Amino acid sequence: MPREKQESLSSDEREKLLEILETVGKTRWSERWKNHMAIPENLNVFSKSEDDKEKILRYLLLRVLINQQAKFEKVREMSIRISSEFTDMLLYEPFRISESDLFRIFKDVAGEKGSLLYRVGALGGIKPISLFTYRFKAYEGFIKWLNERNEKLYDIILRYLREERPVGLFKFLNSHPVLEAGWVGNDPKACRMFVNWVVFLLSEVWDETASSMRDTLMIVDGHVAKVFCRTGLLEEVMYEKRRPYIIQANKMRPWIEGLVLNSGRVPFYVDNGAFYLFEDGYCMDIEPACASCPAGEVCRKYIMDSIPDVEGVEKFRRLGYSGEGSGHLCAAIREQRAPHRQHRGLTPAG
Ligand code: SF4
Repeated sequence: MPREKQESLSSDEREKLLEILETVGKTRWSERWKNHMAIPENLNVFSKSEDDKEKILRYLLLRVLINQQAKFEKVREMSIRISSEFTDMLLYEPFRISESDLFRIFKDVAGEKGSLLYRVGALGGIKPISLFTYRFKAYEGFIKWLNERNEKLYDIILRYLREERPVGLFKFLNSHPVLEAGWVGNDPKACRMFVNWVVFLLSEVWDETASSMRDTLMIVDGHVAKVFCRTGLLEEVMYEKRRPYIIQANKMRPWIEGLVLNSGRVPFYVDNGAFYLFEDGYCMDIEPACASCPAGEVCRKYIMDSIPDVEGVEKFRRLGYSGEGSGHLCAAIREQRAPHRQHRGLTPAG
């Protein structure tokens, strides 16, 4: 897989940039977390009752499972809708919910083919409704597993956080014999996200001392990795072999995680800060808004304004494309390459 060395930041600049990301991440997360979690009206996230906390934790587990590969606005709507419709049955006895009722809601929210929730065509022939069903079944099986043992998710979480910290909780959930079937990939971002959300709720909302925010995990999706590459926080960048202009976020996650851990910053907030640079319209794949970006002060910005006039794959590599939203990217690449295709006679005549 292609790797490329790049000019990186000095240690003072690196510290400054991580501080900016942490501040952006913490400030914006504190304004947006309820919206991100999509807490439905039938649940009270501020309640100190253990039963209410248990409900929130079960709901969030389902929320992150169906979040994978989904369009984020729709997944929030879907989570709220099924929670409002099935209320406590969803949280304690999801196996009593009939498939016809569940699928009716799925189609109401995601459309007849489900393509409003999961992108059809990107799934290798798997139907969106099948994708939704296997995630739901993994959740359902996990709740059964809890019921058979008469255990609460809340107690399990506290136990793991106290004894093995967030990384131990992540390993437990990721390798759980039933839940495992619902995660995407070997190191699922959704599972990392769930662990971070739980640590945040426990320490910042429920005033529990089970774990510290400093022990949270980096999630590192393509947008976060893109910021680490573009700004010069990383000394080396890894690209896909097949598409050598797309960075490989999952392969660079250990480097990014190590960098943030050594800095003593809160991983969850740094991760959020980098993600918000994308979500708020700064660090977009195409035409990033560097002039107004909160990280512009220290970012290497070896892209856009300093890039020499090169074309095609080399240009996209130097821009540090994330591979997220690759529809736009492919269109841009096609536009870049069109004159060459014409020269080589590859454009159909007429
Ligand atoms: S938007 Fe520009 S300045 Fe901000 S992180 Fe991205 S490349 Fe750097």
